Amino acid sequence: MIVTIDGPAGSGKSTAARGLAERLGFEFLDTGAMYRCVAWSVLQKQVDPADEAAVVEVSRQTHIAFSDARVLVNETEVTGLIRTPEVTEVASVVAQYPGVREELVRLQREAASGIDIVSEGRDQGTVVFPDAFCKFFLVANPEERARRRYDELQAQDKQITVEEILDQIYQRDQRDEQRVVAPLKAADDALEINTSSLTRDEVLDQLEKTVRKRISALSH
Ligand code: C5P
Repeated sequence: MIVTIDGPAGSGKSTAARGLAERLGFEFLDTGAMYRCVAWSVLQKQVDPADEAAVVEVSRQTHIAFSDARVLVNETEVTGLIRTPEVTEVASVVAQYPGVREELVRLQREAASGIDIVSEGRDQGTVVFPDAFCKFFLVANPEERARRRYDELQAQDKQITVEEILDQIYQRDQRDEQRVVAPLKAADDALEINTSSLTRDEVLDQLEKTVRKRISALSH
């Protein structure tokens, strides 16, 4: 059984997906981390992110593995390394390339095959798992998204203002929404939830209730 959670950066989808997977006893897939791994490899190999053919080649050589809460690329642990502002920026550039997406979508479908999973990203309900059992699309207002990102970066000791973050969020949204392949958008059959004024538990309660209701409807 597949549950998808899509939405823009800072909408709270990572926390929600992780928490929902835990509550349901499902596996969890963070597909953004996969794009980040390719971006990290591109930077590591000093490939120009604008060189599409070279980036696609890197994505084919990037072996990504998840082990508990750790992320590994070709056996090197990159869990923290893929969360830097530089990797964040390059991830949203390499995610525009059809060849990179093709490679990662294949891996995502493989990872979900035959198991119960909550998969989180931008295109999980639209492109990767169009027949998913339950689809959610989380949104939040830009100020709230910037505030969440600011708190995250403060915790990592990164010096940045809320205004700079708002600007970066705006640019990433533009790239995600306007790319030709798999743009960020809600699937027609996704339930949209605005998390701006909700606590983590309130979001989780709504998600869990929706999934459980559908599961119980199956047996009636
Ligand atoms: O969710 P996260 O911020 O970790 O994602 C990093 C980048 O990967 C996003 O900015 C987006 O461009 C890209 N992405 C994507 N499709 C997904 C997940 C992430 O294009 N399914």
